[in-house]
Amino acid sequence: MAECKVCFRHCNIKEGGLGFCGARTARNGQVEAFNYGRVTGLALDPIEKKPLARFFPGSMILSAGSFGCNLRCPFCQNYDISWSEEAKRYAEKAETVSPEALVSLAEQTRSRGNIGIAFTYNEPLVGYEFVLDTAKLAKDRGLKTVMVTNGTAELWVLEELLPYIDAMNVDLKGFSESYYSDVLGGDLDMVKAFISRAVQLSHVELTTLIVPGENDTEEEMRQLSSWIAGLRNEKGECVGSTVPLHVSRFFPTFMMQDRAATDVALVYKLAEIARERLRFVYTGNC
Ligand code: SF4
Repeated sequence: MAECKVCFRHCNIKEGGLGFCGARTARNGQVEAFNYGRVTGLALDPIEKKPLARFFPGSMILSAGSFGCNLRCPFCQNYDISWSEEAKRYAEKAETVSPEALVSLAEQTRSRGNIGIAFTYNEPLVGYEFVLDTAKLAKDRGLKTVMVTNGTAELWVLEELLPYIDAMNVDLKGFSESYYSDVLGGDLDMVKAFISRAVQLSHVELTTLIVPGENDTEEEMRQLSSWIAGLRNEKGECVGSTVPLHVSRFFPTFMMQDRAATDVALVYKLAEIARERLRFVYTGNC
């Protein structure tokens, strides 16, 4: 058995077994990334699709994903690679790509507007070793690095990555502990700590998916946007009002088919409320 200390779950993993996220295993008594370099998705995407609105707008980014996730969002749009039965099949057939090969591909696509590599689609933190090795190499070659994440990892993982990650989009999926723990299988305090530190050293944008009946009240958006507005840089200066927030519309999918898509007018209303505190608020999927 070996204990994984990447996220709040602190899984005890049996030799050759898998942690809760399906991405980490134990070999010779040590935890390692089972999904290291195993790519399930690769595409040259507009950077706005990550979403990042204020980081090299108009550019493209080579986006790579693996498999596994440490949350259990019932509405996951990437359930086929995150936490479904299909994700287990992906784990069997995923191609292995080395950091060198991925960086080389990113360089080859510069002529098509590519500025770097985004670690996305599944949760990159559960395979942070591959992100770290690849991002180091990418930075050496003058490429930009982006991580799209749920922010559910201990701060030591973030500290290892921060020197090599230029920008992140982090989900702040709601602002109640019970929504995080009971619906998403997550930990709001861990995400808040992650975001608070990440904004000090990286360009950070946040995404909140508005799910009807779960996190869609004006009061919750006021609390969430006020907390963002209070974020501080390393000098202790308040910089939160310039952190971009993407307020996004839910569509019924995967295991959450019991409700309609979020009313577009409500998404716009909640974005207006966020704008009382934040300068850059965007709506998505509307
Ligand atoms: S990263 Fe995965 S294996 Fe590690 S503690 Fe979290 S869920 Fe468990």
